[in-house]
Amino acid sequence: MRRRMVAGNWKMNGQLQQVKQLINELNQLDWPSSVDVMVAPPSIYIPLVSSLVNQTIKVGAQNAYPKDTGAFTGELSAPMLKDFNCSYVLIGHSERRHYFHESENFVADKFHHVKDHAMIPVLCVGETLEQREKGQTQEIIARQLAVVAEKNKNCFRNGVIAYEPVWAIGTGKTASTAQAQEVHAFIRTLLKDKFGADVSDNITIQYGGSVKADNAKELFSAPDIDGALVGGAALQSRSFVDIVKAMA
Ligand code: PEP
Repeated sequence: MRRRMVAGNWKMNGQLQQVKQLINELNQLDWPSSVDVMVAPPSIYIPLVSSLVNQTIKVGAQNAYPKDTGAFTGELSAPMLKDFNCSYVLIGHSERRHYFHESENFVADKFHHVKDHAMIPVLCVGETLEQREKGQTQEIIARQLAVVAEKNKNCFRNGVIAYEPVWAIGTGKTASTAQAQEVHAFIRTLLKDKFGADVSDNITIQYGGSVKADNAKELFSAPDIDGALVGGAALQSRSFVDIVKAMA
């Protein structure tokens, strides 16, 4: 049985007082046990967040460099994140692919680095508006998954994938439930054909892109949407918990 999961990607938002206040508020909420809840704060706040969150909330990182140690100024490795109780790492977020020019091979290296350290990579995939309008959505996503799987055919077993259409991230334009379900079903079928039902039935596929408390319930009614990766709406405890409750 696949797990349902709602994750909050805080991106580069929040300073010390806001981080403490948000965690304090999240700690007081009642989280449904049927849904895994994760928050990914800016990396400098990970030790603080890990020390403050109650056991129902998991901590994730927004990035990791694919080497354990070395001369990589400004970077953090999976073992360092693990020292501070991170159990998830976002990999291949479109902001990193586009603003930081992360190639598909680099994304794959990061994914496997995180897995090699027994943490869970949340692999973000998705098409740009131009690619969607050219009818390339499936081809783009298939390639993003294939480059990662090339390095290890078993890598999606019990994993987490986030389908995040680039045109819906931070824009207020959510994919319709039908659009999102179509891509989620495509991903699940592709994984079944390539790696078997054991992989496709157990993988968690989150949707991300302007998920809010008022559109979450409808998105989650689709059979292949197993949760959400939430940006803006994860910065308010009330809207984040409402999204988790919609999933439950
Ligand atoms: C994200 O950052 O992954 C995201 C989906 O952001 P937003 O919810 O703000 O669109």
